Amino acid sequence: MLNNYLIYLKFLDEKFAKFFDKQKPYIFCKKGCAKCCKNAQFPYSEIEIFYLMKGAKLLSHEIQENIKQNVENIREQKSKFDGERFLYNCPFLIDDVCSVYNYRGIVCRSFGLMYKVADGKNKVPFCCFQGLNYSNVVEEGTSIVSGEKFENLGLEEEPLAFNISYEFLTDSDFEKGFNFKFGDKKPMIEWFL
Ligand code: SF4
Ligand code: SF4
Repeated sequence: MLNNYLIYLKFLDEKFAKFFDKQKPYIFCKKGCAKCCKNAQFPYSEIEIFYLMKGAKLLSHEIQENIKQNVENIREQKSKFDGERFLYNCPFLIDDVCSVYNYRGIVCRSFGLMYKVADGKNKVPFCCFQGLNYSNVVEEGTSIVSGEKFENLGLEEEPLAFNISYEFLTDSDFEKGFNFKFGDKKPMIEWFL
């Protein structure tokens, strides 16, 4: 079953590599930019967390201890939280670098691209509003592509929005097609609480 999930991950990685490549002029991701690993929920299915933990077990004792401490800290923050949507920094983020990069889940692989939402509209990743991805081509404070900005960039490849919602990428059709099961899905931290 894990092998089939890995085949699916490879299939996704190839697709995302093409998408990111197409959108290169609008993407400002770089190592050490970890804004998308903070203040979020990080949906993870059972098979994704299983694979993530496989990677975590290969880390040095020191890093594993750091991760455990991060989980403890988040547990404490959560116990004091009484709002509706608990957000946290990913416990696997160490010194602003993903400690389990090759083992990361689906949401971590797709983040950063412009995407389509249920009503067919396009949405930019939140980092656009911090001067990062797509900020050079959308109207300030919106997800609307500016014809003027696009023209000024003198590029051939238009910014595109992709169907990369977590719900879509973990749809049961993919389970059937690749012959594995995602299992339960929940915010990453809940697998550890
Ligand atoms: S998606 Fe945005 S926040 Fe995440 S690494 Fe790329 S530029 Fe940084
Ligand atoms: S698993 Fe890695 S890429 Fe995903 S949120 Fe955590 S630190 Fe970021």
